[in-house]
Amino acid sequence: MLRSDPRKLLRQTIARFVDQEVVPRAREIDESGEFPDDLFRQLADMGILGLRYPKEVGGSGGNTELFCIAMQELARGLLSLAATTAMQCLMATNGLYLYGTKEMHEKYLLPALRGEKIGAFQLTEPEAGSDLGNIRTRARKTRDGYVINGMKTWSTNGPKGDFHTVLCQTDPDKGLKGLMFFFIPSDTPGFSHSRKFDCLGTRSSTLSEIYFNDCHVPEEYRLGEEGRGLDVLLTILAEIRIMTASLALGLHRAAMDDSIRYCRERVQFGRPIGKNQLIQAKIANMAVNLEAGQLMVDKVTRLIDQKIPCLNEASMAKYFTVESACKTCDEAMRIHGAYGYSMEYSVQRYYRDNRFLLYGGGTHEVLQTTIARQYLK
Ligand SMILES: Cc1cc2nc3c(=O)[nH]c(=O)nc-3n(C[C@H](O)[C@H](O)[C@H](O)COP(=O)(O)OP(=O)(O)OC[C@H]3O[C@@H](n4cnc5c(N)ncnc54)[C@H](O)[C@@H]3O)c2cc1C
Repeated sequence: MLRSDPRKLLRQTIARFVDQEVVPRAREIDESGEFPDDLFRQLADMGILGLRYPKEVGGSGGNTELFCIAMQELARGLLSLAATTAMQCLMATNGLYLYGTKEMHEKYLLPALRGEKIGAFQLTEPEAGSDLGNIRTRARKTRDGYVINGMKTWSTNGPKGDFHTVLCQTDPDKGLKGLMFFFIPSDTPGFSHSRKFDCLGTRSSTLSEIYFNDCHVPEEYRLGEEGRGLDVLLTILAEIRIMTASLALGLHRAAMDDSIRYCRERVQFGRPIGKNQLIQAKIANMAVNLEAGQLMVDKVTRLIDQKIPCLNEASMAKYFTVESACKTCDEAMRIHGAYGYSMEYSVQRYYRDNRFLLYGGGTHEVLQTTIARQYLK
């Protein structure tokens, strides 16, 4: 029965792709900082970009569980490729899928699922990181649509994006109730972006600021009902967090696999370093935390697929798996001794890349606060 389990088949297929196509090029891609468009296209051809969308709109008819399995395997190979793919599969296209017209689906969603157009998703502004209530990008209603002015920062795919899902304030007097998502193609007059940011990790992701200067969009480019903007975010917030947790699982696995290999190869005092109990304790902790994180992720993806509310469980899974991955990457560096500090070994990349996971999907201080609130109310 397991032979035909779609979860097992998908994991094997992506694992093969990662081992053959991604792992051998990961170092070169990280050093060049160039996003691997060819690998992204191959993922599109494999149906990964449309994994969580129904076949009627050009998707692959999968679900959150399958999507997260794919992200776990991809992140094991290269976190920046996995993060950009996750952005395309989920945040960049979900509002377009749920609220876009048939024409918008044909012009943007279908090409996005085929990897022909790139999407981006923008909440963050210089003065509004965790604090979305402070968003200042303004959408003013006109006779036939909206005009948008402002800027966003830390935009993954900012310089590459063909279209952007952007959270704007429609009426500052309404506070959070005034926030609405808008669909803004990058060829809209008044749209521009900064140069690509130079970052510590996930170096082939393209991040920038983006600017809106009197960008006119038609009424149908407002994604969702007026006054219900944050509901659009809430529909996928648990999924964003469990996707981030899945990226953490993949990175954790990569750091652990490399550590196990090194423990066997490296001989000191006449025996492999893995024979030392203090090194064994590190491997044991990596394995236990990976297993615990996998169970949390599997539980939450099933709850999401059953449409059972699980934001708190998703927050806990994101918090636990990312903290575990950070700890594992740190321990992997220690196990590799001085060689972990060299660019020759991949553990330095895992150690740099893991920092991104601490912010995307909510910072851990904010997550801890919201988790505790569930118990202290
Ligand atoms: C690689 C990368 C890619 C990104 N891609 C995107 C993207 O595509 N789209 C997008 O919109 N954003 C993106 N972001 C931005 C990310 O979502 C933000 O970094 C995140 O929301 C946190 O905002 P901030 O960095 O401004 O931190 P801040 O909110 O300024 O927080 C700074 C510190 O204060 C803490 N803090 C803040 N408020 C509280 C509180 N109430 N209680 C306790 N502690 C608090 C935080 O936990 C953190 O430690 C990306 C970031 C990175 C690094």
